[in-house]
Order: sequence, then C-alpha cells, then structure tokens
Amino acid sequence: MSIIKKKEDLKTLVETLNFKEKVERSKRLIKEAYKTYGDSLVVANSLGKDSVAVWDLVKRVDPNIRGFIVTTRYKPLETVAFMNETVVQYPELRVYKNDAEIAEDLYKTDPDKCCDILKVEPVRRAIKEMGVKCWVTGLRCTEGRTRTDFKEIEERDKGLIKLNPILIWKEREVWQYLALYGVKVNPLYGKGYRSLGCSTCTKISTGDNERDGRWVGTSKCGGECGIHTRPLKEEKKA
Ligand code: SF4
Repeated sequence: MSIIKKKEDLKTLVETLNFKEKVERSKRLIKEAYKTYGDSLVVANSLGKDSVAVWDLVKRVDPNIRGFIVTTRYKPLETVAFMNETVVQYPELRVYKNDAEIAEDLYKTDPDKCCDILKVEPVRRAIKEMGVKCWVTGLRCTEGRTRTDFKEIEERDKGLIKLNPILIWKEREVWQYLALYGVKVNPLYGKGYRSLGCSTCTKISTGDNERDGRWVGTSKCGGECGIHTRPLKEEKKA
C-alpha cells in the first residue's frame, strides 16, 4: 500500500520507528511523491540542519530534483557563505530574495510583517515561478510548540501539496543522519545555535525548546516566520 495513503499515528511513529526505519520511510515518501509530481516537486531548502538532511535524502532518490532557497538582507555572513557554496555545488537550487524598501527597524516593531515581506513573499514567488505543485520541507513535529499538528503529506493551500518527509525524526536523528552521511552543515551550529534564522532575530539558547532562540523577547518567541502558517498560493488582490 502507498505509504502516503496510510493513516498512521505520528506520535507512535516518532517513538517506535528506529533510525534506519525512519530514513527508509522518508525516502519512500519522497520517491512516491516524485513519481506523482515529477519536476513540479521542489524542495524548500532553508540551509538549516533539517533542510540539508532533506536535500541529501532527495538527491539520493533522484539527483534531478530541484529546490529553492529564500534569503534575506539580515542573514548571518556564515549563512550567506554556506548558501553560496551550496548553490555552486547544486545549480538546480534557485535563490529568492525580496529587496523591497522597508523600515530599518521593522523586525523590531512588526516582526510578523517583516517576515511576511522578506520570507513569505519570496516563497510565494518561488512556488509560482518554478511551477510547484508539491513542495518538500524539513519540518519536524518534535521541533517546537508550533510544529505539532502537521502531517507528512498535507494540502494547506488548495492545489499545493506539502511533503514533510522527516516530520517524525527527532533532533538527535537528524544529527545522526548528517554525521553518518558526512553532510556539511552551516558553521553556526559549531558556535552553539540550535535553530538558524536572520542574525537580528536569532540567539544562542540553552532552553528545552529547539526554537527558543528565535525572536527572543517578542510575542513571536520560539514561533514561526509564516511560511508554514500563511497562505502560499498567490493571494487575489481586493
Ligand atoms: S527573522 Fe527577523 S529580520 Fe528576518 S524576516 Fe523575520 S522579522 Fe525580519
């Protein structure tokens, strides 16, 4: 039976599947979705540890699978250097950025709006320009308070399928995969970061929640930039 059609309890899968079974399941999910969507299956690569694990998995399924990276003017220098290296190695990764003029302190006064302009808008553009019908993400349901109600395959926007192939992996299993397959990661992890974002809004944290270092001191703390919560298909103008 197709793994995509099976109805299984995610929490049980998180706790009962071993590392090897999770890796095999992720590859099967990607393989099945790629068979269905072909070139309109595209990976959103944020360059974080989860994304580079997913990118490595998809390349093992089929080296032709394409992807996109969204960057902003506030990304740390290490992330920009890592991005530049990555796109040289994988020219099938397109980079999207929004250079629109915004207030200098928008990330402080209205971080939701800032993320909407600098992160969500380029994702919408990538989805439109690359003809995406199925986008692949590195979401994990154990990553934080905002990530518990996702499914491995879902349709949050009508006509746009979202595949979360490592949804049931734990943080430790991501690192296990990256170490085992020698996947290169952003050097910021070596400085102590557990979750990466714009330099203005990301701190090294020691809290229990993996995303505790994101948007510290704002109502968005430990939360989301919006690409997993806001509509991504072109919104019709009133
Ligand atoms: S993470 Fe901060 S700087 Fe980056 S887009 Fe969001 S609010 Fe703006």
